[in-house]
Amino acid sequence: MRPFGFERPETLERAAGIVAAREDRAAPPPLSSAQFIAGGTNMADYMKLGVMRPNLLVDIGRLADPGLRRIAASPDGIRLGALVRMSEAEENADIRIGYPVIAESLQQAASQQIRNMASLGGNILQRTRCEYFRDISWACNKRDPGSGCAAMDGFNRQHAVLGVSDRCIATYHGDFAQALIALDASVETQSPRGGRTMAFSELHRLPGETPHVETQLMADELITLIDIPAKPWARRSHYLKIRDRQSYAFAVASVAVVLDLEDGAVRDVRIALGGLATVPWRAQEAEDELKGGPLDERTAGRAAEAAFAGAMPREHNAFKISLGRQALVRALLETRDMRV
Ligand SMILES: Cc1cc2nc3c(=O)[nH]c(=O)nc-3n(C[C@H](O)[C@H](O)[C@H](O)COP(=O)(O)OP(=O)(O)OC[C@H]3O[C@@H](n4cnc5c(N)ncnc54)[C@H](O)[C@@H]3O)c2cc1C
Ligand code: SF4
Repeated sequence: MRPFGFERPETLERAAGIVAAREDRAAPPPLSSAQFIAGGTNMADYMKLGVMRPNLLVDIGRLADPGLRRIAASPDGIRLGALVRMSEAEENADIRIGYPVIAESLQQAASQQIRNMASLGGNILQRTRCEYFRDISWACNKRDPGSGCAAMDGFNRQHAVLGVSDRCIATYHGDFAQALIALDASVETQSPRGGRTMAFSELHRLPGETPHVETQLMADELITLIDIPAKPWARRSHYLKIRDRQSYAFAVASVAVVLDLEDGAVRDVRIALGGLATVPWRAQEAEDELKGGPLDERTAGRAAEAAFAGAMPREHNAFKISLGRQALVRALLETRDMRV
């Protein structure tokens, strides 16, 4: 590992200010010379591999602000501090009962040890597991902008079929983010320029021509809160994760569903797909297909067709289209049959 500096400020303002004082503060966060570290489970891993190369780490794990570690449920919804541990959120009773899709997405992520260390903010900003990104001997537009993409004609079984570009086909691998898309969450951020709120669905950017620019965040901008609006029907929500190994593995395909049923008809539905796309992916075409009608194997199948109509497979990952369709049908029917 390369030598690096380390700072552990006590306030959020100081943490953001340290990064803002750097000359390259306008660089995308993962390419900036100073970067935040929370639980460190992604950052330390990628620093050891030489993928992440900050000169200065700013540890936000011990910031004094108690709101960063709080889970606050109210009639308006639930607010999750960015430093809440994954395991704390998955075990929280308000989340388990009111928003099962969140608890299920976290329970199936990583290992218990990692979930005890990792923060929710760090989880949603984790970087791809693309093998060519993780091995610095390969060309990678995301790691080294303009260098090429070894995955395009390489072994791309893990790669995305939705939201791809001719510069990058890396999958977004997190689980929790799909639950947040399906629940219509937003995130609050703080930087020396003040605070802002954005829809969670706008946080991650499609790779397009600039796969190294992964989110809307600036290098000196911290996620502070995740805000999930109240939805009584979120009790009928579910996360289905398909993986190569039933434990401690990233999704090959996953589906988050939040379903509002009235007399057997779909009054409203939100669907997000994971393991299949370059960003946490809202399957709006599938939602439109289902709204106002019955939910059965036939209508779910039609929705699944719609969800993958724009899929663009490469040599080794075409199987993800049929796997994704089947996962979506199964997730919809399992959510329909939940006892709430
Ligand atoms: C073996 C292994 C298996 C895994 N399996 C899964 C899995 O199945 N599903 C899954 O979802 N995840 C999985 N993960 C990923 C794991 O969940 C993430 O590493 C973890 O959630 C990251 O959280 P952290 O707090 O440790 O982030 P860190 O490593 O500290 O930070 C990650 C990134 O987020 C930035 N950051 C952190 N917090 C903030 C903030 N508040 N504001 C702005 N920037 C911030 C950092 O600068 C960094 O770029 C796995 C990881 C490993 C090592
Ligand atoms: S798919 Fe993206 S992350 Fe993977 S090698 Fe290509 S540019 Fe890099």
